[in-house]
Amino acid sequence: MSEGGYMRLSIRCPHCLGKSAAEDHEELSRTVGEIAYRCRNYRCGHVFAARLEVVRTLEPSRTPSPLVALPVSAHVRRAPVQAALLASECDADDEADYLAELARPLADWPAAPSMGGALWGTAADAEADDAAERSRYRYITIRCPHCQAGAIAVASRELSRTLREVTYRCRNHRCRHAYVAQLEVVRTLSLSSLPCAEVVLPLSPHVRLGQLQALLQASAQAPPG
Ligand SMILES: [Zn+2]
Ligand SMILES: [Zn+2]
Repeated sequence: MSEGGYMRLSIRCPHCLGKSAAEDHEELSRTVGEIAYRCRNYRCGHVFAARLEVVRTLEPSRTPSPLVALPVSAHVRRAPVQAALLASECDADDEADYLAELARPLADWPAAPSMGGALWGTAADAEADDAAERSRYRYITIRCPHCQAGAIAVASRELSRTLREVTYRCRNHRCRHAYVAQLEVVRTLSLSSLPCAEVVLPLSPHVRLGQLQALLQASAQAPPG
C-alpha cells in the first residue's frame, strides 16, 4: 500500500475491478487534472478517463495563491490550524521535521482499517510493478494548487465504483497545504468486454459506435472458432 511511506495512486477498472495503469495525464487548471487509465485485464480492455479535482482544504497553505479559492473542510477543527499558523513563523524553515512526518495520514473521514482496497495496490502488487511504472504512478498526482509544488497522497477512501477521495499533502515545507481531491471516472475511451450493468459512463466522442454495433452483430452471427 505504501512505498517509502508514499502511496501510489492507482485505480481499479470500474467494470471488472481489475488493476488499471495510468497512460496519460493532462493538467486542465490549478485544481483539475485528467488521467487516462487502461484496464490491465485483457479480457476486459476498458480504457477510461478520470477527472482529479481538488475540492477542499484540510490545512491551509502558508503561502496561499490569490488564484485559488477552496472551501475549508468543516470537519477540521480550527484551533489547531490557527495554532499552527501562529507557530509558522518559528518553524517555517524546519524542512527536515516537516518532510519526516509528511507521509502521516491526514483526512477528514474516519480511518478505515483496510485503507484503499479498491484504490491502492498491495505490497505484493508494488513488487510486481516495474520501476518505470512506479515513477508514472508518482507522476500522476495533482500539484499543490497554491504553491505548485509536488504533493503526495496520504489517505484515500472509496465512495463508489467510479468515485474516490484522496488526501494530499504539499511537499513544500513553507506551504504545508493539505487538501482533498476527488478522483472520478468520467467517460469511456474504449469499451469494456466485461461490462458491469451498474456502471454507466458516457462514451468519448471518438468511439465509432455505429461501426462497433455492426461488428458486434456480425460477430454474434459468425460461428465460433
Ligand atoms: Zn476492466
Ligand atoms: Zn503547496
